[in-house]
Amino acid sequence: MTTAFAWNATHTAHAETGHVERPERLEAIRERLTTAQLWDRLALQQPLPIDWEIIRLVHRRTYIERLQQAVAHAPLRLDVDTYLQPGSLEAALEAVGALLAVTQAVLERRASNGFAAVRPPGHHATPDRAMGFCLFSNVAIATRWVQQTFGVERVAIVDFDVHHGNGTQEVFYEDPNVLFLSVHQFPHYPGTGRAEEIGTGRGRGTTVNVPLPAYTGDEGYLEAFRRLLGPVVRRFRPEVIFLSAGYDAHWRDPLGSMQLSVTGYAALVYELMEWADACCDGRLVAALEGGYDLEALAACVEATLVRLQDPLAPIADALGPSPHEAVDVRDLLYELRLLHHVA
Ligand SMILES: [Zn+2]
Repeated sequence: MTTAFAWNATHTAHAETGHVERPERLEAIRERLTTAQLWDRLALQQPLPIDWEIIRLVHRRTYIERLQQAVAHAPLRLDVDTYLQPGSLEAALEAVGALLAVTQAVLERRASNGFAAVRPPGHHATPDRAMGFCLFSNVAIATRWVQQTFGVERVAIVDFDVHHGNGTQEVFYEDPNVLFLSVHQFPHYPGTGRAEEIGTGRGRGTTVNVPLPAYTGDEGYLEAFRRLLGPVVRRFRPEVIFLSAGYDAHWRDPLGSMQLSVTGYAALVYELMEWADACCDGRLVAALEGGYDLEALAACVEATLVRLQDPLAPIADALGPSPHEAVDVRDLLYELRLLHHVA
């Protein structure tokens, strides 16, 4: 299988000394993919040029104007943990462009699936606010763009970042054509993502939140994917699946308390590939979100790309399984299956 891949070279301009969301994240990924001789086997895409009209598919004009004014006074903070540098908007626009390039390659069938290794991440940015290290809601923009450009109607977005994808959820909360599924540590930043948040109006039932307790491990995540999210996705029959690929649920990550391993992440990607095969000819497009332990991040992205290229390839996991005992989440998943009418 051919996996499309893109990154945004201008990401280095988006940096703040001492901040965890740092350029070294993408550098570690690039280094790892080169060493593992994966880089040359990927179908490398150049980011598409992005104008503000594309950002407007999701974000309000007033927010864009605020950003454009703020960047003239950079460096500054847009919220307590989201920084803006003079080069940040260019970097963030190119991140969207990289994701759209990968998406285009998959929709035009030049690639089976795709991965955009970009930063800043996107899933916390709301239509009118930057937050949680995110400036533009990358995956939400790509979703609106495939609907507009390729005549796609139904899109599923799966978010396995350790944090709830509040921004993505907000964009599609009333939209019956976009299924948003988030599996995250709860309670945790940003505070949203309760089980009862299931969408509203015509979008009622097309938001699925899986608020897992700290110390959920590979088994709990896999159970959630196989017994809850899989059936919901198959029932919805999306025409393309996006993955908000955050790797901060790895057991080594400093920002989360989840216990996923590298092989656990690869197993989740395998599930997603199965759903994509069943529903939409394998069309699966991943965009990097979080992941702040450089070694775990690089290993997880490598494992994801190995899996995307070959569902049966062996996964190397030098970091091994979590040293902590995992919690049992079967009762919670039972309740969630009832809530979402999954037999
Ligand atoms: Zn995160």
